[in-house]
Amino acid sequence: MNEILSWKKKQENTYINITSKENNGSTLVSGNRRQSSQKDFVFNPGTSIVYKQRNKSILVNFGYFWHITDFHYDPFFEDVKKGCWKSVIEGGVRNYKKLVGRFGDYRCDSPWELIESAARIMAARQGDNVEFVLWTGDTLSHSVKHKGGTLQLEYVQNLTDLFQKTFRSQFVFPALGHDDPGFKKHLSSMWSRWLPTDSLTTFESGGYYIVERKTFQLQIIMLNTNLMTRNKHDEDAKKQWDWLNRVLEKCESLKQTVYLVGHIPPGSDERRGSLERYFSDYYNKKYIQIVQRYSGTIMGQFFGHLHSDSFRVMYNEEGTPTSWILLAPSLTPRRMSNGQNNPALRLYKFNKYTGEVLDYTQYYLDLPKANRNEVDWQVEYNFTTYYGLTQITPTNLNSLAKRITFYNEDDTFAKYFRANSVKIYNASQSVCDSSCAHSHYCAITCVDFTMFDECLKTAPSAFLSSQDAIFINGLPFVYRIIVVVHLCVL
Ligand SMILES: [Zn+2]
Ligand SMILES: [Zn+2]
Repeated sequence: MNEILSWKKKQENTYINITSKENNGSTLVSGNRRQSSQKDFVFNPGTSIVYKQRNKSILVNFGYFWHITDFHYDPFFEDVKKGCWKSVIEGGVRNYKKLVGRFGDYRCDSPWELIESAARIMAARQGDNVEFVLWTGDTLSHSVKHKGGTLQLEYVQNLTDLFQKTFRSQFVFPALGHDDPGFKKHLSSMWSRWLPTDSLTTFESGGYYIVERKTFQLQIIMLNTNLMTRNKHDEDAKKQWDWLNRVLEKCESLKQTVYLVGHIPPGSDERRGSLERYFSDYYNKKYIQIVQRYSGTIMGQFFGHLHSDSFRVMYNEEGTPTSWILLAPSLTPRRMSNGQNNPALRLYKFNKYTGEVLDYTQYYLDLPKANRNEVDWQVEYNFTTYYGLTQITPTNLNSLAKRITFYNEDDTFAKYFRANSVKIYNASQSVCDSSCAHSHYCAITCVDFTMFDECLKTAPSAFLSSQDAIFINGLPFVYRIIVVVHLCVL
């Protein structure tokens, strides 16, 4: 395997030294670039705004980060006439022998041209102005699954090089996806340009790490969620779990905040109900418990894998919403067996000191248009404006979850459902009936598997339709919501 390791000579990284100055009694932050021999991840100074309020200056310092996921690069998508790889589940034919577009097809994984176009738009919209990039796995298409380690790593290297060119002075933090090659030592070598020195040990042994920022409150925990699919006796899974406990305990004691980031989210797939679950029941429960325990420290949770745009709300034992998960849609337009989506990229706006998440902008590419040579990455929506919320908080997302249960073609559910597939499907009865709408609600509010199943059972035969949205069995619909929310609390 040594030939695999013909990585480029490790590059000198540019670091940014943050210094504080006093100005009218408030702290300002300015940045000086320097070369450093020791890695210490610190943020780009970015945008600082000082507001005057009641004779007091308040520093609001926000920045941006990209969350990109599930690129599923198909290196064999070379010829639009040959078509693309088709999965075994979808018929076992290796090539989808039909004319496909150069930017891809809803039945195919991502061609290089689509990936390059995504990199270009990220650089143009927010390249070196971002603080960092969260890259949550599934880098390669299933088409390379049986191609051997050398080739697989070469393809991952292609994307790594592209991201390095796109974000020249910023850090990209990768998480392992369920379809990524498991050669952690080689990957750690490849990604050593971005991974903090202290993180290499845990990444090499278990595929997880923490980005420690010594002078700031927010820390970033990158999980190897492949280990969350295992049972309680698995030693590697146990090691990650013990490490996560120790890290969260330490962050809490230091009054730090964290992001939990990974590939596979806990809970159920909103589109597939109970058919497919990824975390083992054991680790799903433990995950919920640890979020309940450290909800004051966890500022946000970011995952991919489902290739859909959705979210989850998590509650404490009293039923109060205390944490959230945001699920970013994939770049690849292909889903397994449940539909399609347009290629997507997400840009977050956040308070870079505390980690508080203020908003996000969802970008997308209209694939058929791109294939007609109208390559135009556009803003699909801006979260707070789209849903009429002030900020991303557990309480706000809980109220949004309640709103999307009102099934009506003009309501919030229709907006959510349109976004869920990145502007492919409209919420009509033929595409998503009342039980489908209810499944979305249950997946969003019930991360626990048992509670999710119970929630599904609570759906009356015609849970909601545009005609009976006001009364169910003579009871006002609001009553029904209260019942469901209580069911979902552990
Ligand atoms: Zn994927
Ligand atoms: Zn995946």
